Amino acid sequence: MLSIKNLHATLEDNTPILNGVNLEIKSGEVHAIMGPNGAGKSTLSKVISGHPSYQITQGEILLQGKNIAELDIAARANAGIFISMQYPIEIPGVNNIEFLRMALDSKRASQGLEKISDSDFNSLIEKSMELLEMDNRYTERGVNEGFSGGEKKRNEILQMAVLQPKIAFLDETDSGLDIDALRIVSKGINALRNQERGIILVTHYKRLLDYVKPDYIHVLRRGKIVLSGGAELADELEAKGYDWIPGDEE
Ligand code: ADP
Ligand code: MG
Repeated sequence: MLSIKNLHATLEDNTPILNGVNLEIKSGEVHAIMGPNGAGKSTLSKVISGHPSYQITQGEILLQGKNIAELDIAARANAGIFISMQYPIEIPGVNNIEFLRMALDSKRASQGLEKISDSDFNSLIEKSMELLEMDNRYTERGVNEGFSGGEKKRNEILQMAVLQPKIAFLDETDSGLDIDALRIVSKGINALRNQERGIILVTHYKRLLDYVKPDYIHVLRRGKIVLSGGAELADELEAKGYDWIPGDEE
């Protein structure tokens, strides 16, 4: 589904942030990316999504075999890339549900489909909000406007439920969640886990991975994956931290 090959990326001032990332995500798989603060995890999400502040200097990003690295951010989203941001932004004055509808219709238009009907959209929203235990108050507010940290994270998963991406990159979707919100967000992610989709979870905490069991765990450090393993790696990392892992000495 997603194949990242020898990806190097820099900031606009040419500071290197990603230094040769390799990652293969098959459809149906869930991969967790862990690693110290500043390793480049969020940058990886932004480079995959096409954020204009970063330049790809080497390597490829293939979605179902097609290089998307030259596409702009909207075209990548329409092709099936979804990012849940570590720090979701508030967009006051833009109604949360209208925003979702426009995003969905834009994606449908790119696939040659007509706008979604009122009844189909309403039932999709209703079903998705029920999954995420969100009540109707959220339909009247601006995007994330006045939402608590946990509500913003749930709203990100609501967006994922509506947009049905091929690749979902969820950047610290568990950070700042209380126990109930963590359970709800995990339930949402598990419900959206399926054979037509790959999911990347960035997290610092094993507790998310207890709820959403990954197929693989990778450690990103200084812009490179320095270790990969199965779900059991989470225990080892929790016990030992990251310093013992060799592989990126310069
Ligand atoms: P992580 O998500 O793993 O904690 P980030 O990808 O956010 O790390 O950041 C990696 C490094 O790149 C950090 O040193 C960060 O300060 C730097 N960085 C990322 N984006 C920018 C930016 N737009 N401007 C300046 N520095 C940046
Ligand atoms: Mg980050």
